[in-house]
Amino acid sequence: MEFVDRLLTCADCGGEFIFTAGEQLFFFDKQFKNDPKRCKPCKSKRSGVGVQAGSGPAAAGLSRTETRTECSECGIETTVPFKPTQGRPVLCRQCFQAKRPVTDGGITAASSTTVGLIASATNADISSVSAEMVAAAAQA
Ligand SMILES: [Zn+2]
Ligand SMILES: [Zn+2]
Repeated sequence: MEFVDRLLTCADCGGEFIFTAGEQLFFFDKQFKNDPKRCKPCKSKRSGVGVQAGSGPAAAGLSRTETRTECSECGIETTVPFKPTQGRPVLCRQCFQAKRPVTDGGITAASSTTVGLIASATNADISSVSAEMVAAAAQA
């Protein structure tokens, strides 16, 4: 069986692309009945997802665990570096800081740390342990 390169038209972008002899052999081998419908760029666009890795909001500095939620105090939309637990209040940075002066013992040192963590949460990877600390501190 001999194969020669053929020129096909992409069903997506309408551009021409080469169905090479090697690819035809591959298709023949796999007993694919139909010619490829799309050029390579369109094919990879369709099978997508993996190709897009490294671009988009994730690469723009947003942590992938970032969750959109509403502040339980003032109701503004805010993001937290952890999944808020049902029933637990989540505070935006302002409310969190506003609550801070209410000193009750050991929490002060911890909360000044966690405020820093919240502040840097958008551009730093944060471990789930410190995320839990933030949640706990926010509740206190
Ligand atoms: Zn195409
Ligand atoms: Zn708030």
